Amino acid sequence: MALVTDEAVTLAASDYSETSQIVSLMTLRNGKVRLIAKGSKRPKNPFGGRIDRLEVAQAVFTIGHRGGLGQLTELSVTDPLPGLRQSLPPFYAASCLAELILAATLDLDPHPELFKIAVHTLQRLSCGDDSAILMYRFEARMLRILGLMPEVRTCVACRRARPQNRSGLFSAASGGLVCRQCAGDHGGGIAVSGKALDALAFLAAADDRQADRVAMSPQTRGDVRRLLAEYWQHVLGRPVRAMRYL
Ligand SMILES: [Zn+2]
Repeated sequence: MALVTDEAVTLAASDYSETSQIVSLMTLRNGKVRLIAKGSKRPKNPFGGRIDRLEVAQAVFTIGHRGGLGQLTELSVTDPLPGLRQSLPPFYAASCLAELILAATLDLDPHPELFKIAVHTLQRLSCGDDSAILMYRFEARMLRILGLMPEVRTCVACRRARPQNRSGLFSAASGGLVCRQCAGDHGGGIAVSGKALDALAFLAAADDRQADRVAMSPQTRGDVRRLLAEYWQHVLGRPVRAMRYL
């Protein structure tokens, strides 16, 4: 089978046998792939040691047939991210990023823009930048790229625009904001401040320079996190495990 070389992020690595691991990679050109790394636990191997998750690397592999496991033949870390392993907030944030990509993207369905944003987010997390804001920003852009961004500017029922800074009710099941008049018919929602709704809309569309200027109060951060957690749970059909530590 043909060998493929691609840029990759290791999303998950688990033991398969005494000597081998199964790894899930997000790749730039091939999307998510699940591979067996034979001999990765042996002292001398073509992977630079036992494979860890949350590495940015170049990978050489074969693609599995009909959804089966492919085989990893080489892996070399191209960008060591020591900061992810030195303190808990960036580690939990990076773990959450990996869990979201694993759960919300399909095998062999590439999203180059999402890949680049994921790598950039991991690099910034490793540098010790504000992990909470980096994650709101990653999640909002990920939702936009996957076509899953909830509506936060207009009521999903009556399409009336929410004035800037006006709080609202967020209904994950309805796909976003519901105004107070429509809330009864839509089973209500969680109350979210106008600042949090505005911040999310802004971060989904902002470039890095614009996003770097965003400052958020603890109250706004709490609202954004609650909204995103609730919405991911609805989209994925289960809570995001790593999100409870954020
Ligand atoms: Zn309405």
